[in-house]
Amino acid sequence: MAIPLSADYASMLDAQDRLAHFRERFVVPDPELIYMDGNSLGRLPKATQTYARELIETQWGTRLIRGWNEGWFTAPERIGAKIARLIGAQPDEVIVADSTSVNLFKLVVAALRAQRGRTRLVTDDLNFPSDLYVLQGAIELLEKGHRLDIISSPDGIHGPAAEIQASLDEQVALLTLSHTVFKSGYLYDMAELTRAAHSVGSLVLWDLSHSVGAVPVDLNAAQVDLAIGCTYKYLNGGPGAPAFLYIRRELQERLGNPISGWMGQRDLFNFALDYKPAMGLRQFLTGTPPILSLSLIEPGVDVLLEAGLDALRAKSEQQSEYLIQLWEAVLKPEGFVLNSPRDVRKRGSHISLGHQEGLRIDMALINDMQVLPDFRAPDNIRLGLAPLYTSFSDIHTTVTRLHQVVADKLYEQYPHEVPIVT
Ligand SMILES: *Cc1c(COP(=O)(O)O)cnc(C)c1O
Repeated sequence: MAIPLSADYASMLDAQDRLAHFRERFVVPDPELIYMDGNSLGRLPKATQTYARELIETQWGTRLIRGWNEGWFTAPERIGAKIARLIGAQPDEVIVADSTSVNLFKLVVAALRAQRGRTRLVTDDLNFPSDLYVLQGAIELLEKGHRLDIISSPDGIHGPAAEIQASLDEQVALLTLSHTVFKSGYLYDMAELTRAAHSVGSLVLWDLSHSVGAVPVDLNAAQVDLAIGCTYKYLNGGPGAPAFLYIRRELQERLGNPISGWMGQRDLFNFALDYKPAMGLRQFLTGTPPILSLSLIEPGVDVLLEAGLDALRAKSEQQSEYLIQLWEAVLKPEGFVLNSPRDVRKRGSHISLGHQEGLRIDMALINDMQVLPDFRAPDNIRLGLAPLYTSFSDIHTTVTRLHQVVADKLYEQYPHEVPIVT
């Protein structure tokens, strides 16, 4: 069905959008700048801006060391419990600590140690490279003859779900995948793959970085063992904000943190010389949490909880369909290809458009067109739809400007070299 291509139609969709008012909760200093990268770094919530002042001036400035007993010490669990509500977990199954990569390392080593005798780790070639590096490092460290099997996607867009299932056997210790794939936005069927892995006795670890806050996740319903995720994308936690980890309650006693440190010690202020892990997830802490950036995650999570994940997903689906329809009508004739799944049920909340001149188009968009997307090699322009603040008019303007960059060959003035951060 053809959709109207006018800007008025986008404005009408915005007028009908019941989540539209949430955009006012964010700092948007320049309405002309179209931000399409909320899947890499979320916008700044106004509540976070206010809270940052209080945190620094009052909590740090006046309370000093007393702050530890006034909310800092328990912040990893308190904020973890809120994130748990976004991902279908119990409050005591999620804790905030370290970076996503470091959390992956801790959980992978813990899982491989618990799965003695099994030597295979299975993932796919659409996984985030840092995840693959962490898996390689963990195997090298353990020196137990583990083997990493990286199953290839058939087309670079869809995850190799059938091939993964076919490769599972009794030797698999751990299956680990990104729930929403960072390049194409492909969304795995979490319940189905978890079930398949459990049927051969494997543990399962999902990286939720590109799902949490945009795609409803139900870890408990799918009986997921382990998960990790990022807080600076759709959770709007701020650059480099610490990540979270999830361990299913029944597994918490069986797994041990390989980076044991005093924050995970049972009675840390006894300063005993021998490590004894704390009860529950606290043992997965290592050193002192980065209280400033950790605390600033909370206001953003509160906004998401208020909006509700089901409503956010419904908007995200409507927006990605709208974007794809505009692509088909306006951008496909200019040489853009859709590098994301066409089926909305197999898609997260970002869309990748490929073009031979992708990198130079990306630079022209940023420098001349007031649109901030991001770029993923070799030719993907990634457009993140953050349903809390992305408007239908943002999408319409992005497509119009993308069209102009190509139709008027505005990209030709840019070099072919790749900048450091894309
Ligand atoms: C963003 C992202 C990460 C981030 O890892 P850091 O350790 O925070 O740099 C990890 N995994 C995936 C799939 C991501 O998208």
